Amino acid sequence: MVKMDMRQWNIRWSYSHATDPDDEYLVAYGAIAVLPGTSPRLLVTEEWGSPRVGWLRGDNTFLYEPETGAEGEYLIMFEYPIETPRIELVSGVGGTAALLNSSYGVRSHVFGRGNEIAAGFGPDRPALDFTVGTIDDRRVLMRADGDDDPSLTAYDLITGEQVINQWSPLQLEDHEGPWRLGRGHGRPRVAEVFENRIQLYGSDGYIESLIDMLDACACCLPIVLVFDDAAGPSLVVSREHAGAVWCYGASATSAPDADFVPFSGPIADYPGKVVGARLGRWRDVPVLALRTDVGISLWDLESDEWVCHIPVPARVHDIAFGRDGTLAAIAETGPLLIDIT
Ligand SMILES: [Zn+2]
Repeated sequence: MVKMDMRQWNIRWSYSHATDPDDEYLVAYGAIAVLPGTSPRLLVTEEWGSPRVGWLRGDNTFLYEPETGAEGEYLIMFEYPIETPRIELVSGVGGTAALLNSSYGVRSHVFGRGNEIAAGFGPDRPALDFTVGTIDDRRVLMRADGDDDPSLTAYDLITGEQVINQWSPLQLEDHEGPWRLGRGHGRPRVAEVFENRIQLYGSDGYIESLIDMLDACACCLPIVLVFDDAAGPSLVVSREHAGAVWCYGASATSAPDADFVPFSGPIADYPGKVVGARLGRWRDVPVLALRTDVGISLWDLESDEWVCHIPVPARVHDIAFGRDGTLAAIAETGPLLIDIT
């Protein structure tokens, strides 16, 4: 049963491109990040449309400032919509920079300077996925490309130069498949579901560790929801039998090749169907934010209990953690800023 002493929440701000309430406006794909600073600034890639404006519009990464105005400012114009939007923020590159997947490839924007870190990172087409991390003390962006036989390539985060050769983990079939890019101990890695295990690859293309899933099954097709160290420990989060969510982790102080062991779970009593997740810190507590088809469910990884369930009347595409306990999200209805008290 869901406990009753959960946190209160309030949707402080939301935005829709719909100008006619009868129009069937929908964000089909989206990604979001919260820029550092005292007032919230939301960077949002939205692939949206409606019968009135057509499907899809691709004009679009917006910067919203909920406290000063609702309408977003265009930051990056796309040539055409993409199905794999993604935003990562990095610092120490002459300021805070956003790395964005776009129809022009993975591009960057340094805030306050308005320029790019490098002219681009790899091919001038949208990546299937990308992540940022460190290989041999070098900051890199690793991206996945390809259709039938996806391959991975890493680029220097400062110069954009390719730093390792392409490689293809076994069994990578397509970007809907049971693998994803991630990061463990600061290093870009790949997590792949194979039979009853999750295989973790290093950036050299070799399997570094194996996780025996605790409740794998053939009936529900387990998936990796997220693989990240943004909460502190390096965590692989999976959706296994009957929708139960499991976490496997290695502490931040363990060796990079340490085994991942059960960390939290099963997490099962959430509303709706989980479609993805984000790891991060909420009020300096490590948390897992589940994206579901009915909203967001926030799990405290330290106390192993729910922080809150936030209903959103639409699928949630991405979640970002803001200051002072706020969450930002991009849902089918548009971007949201949520206070949790
Ligand atoms: Zn099952």
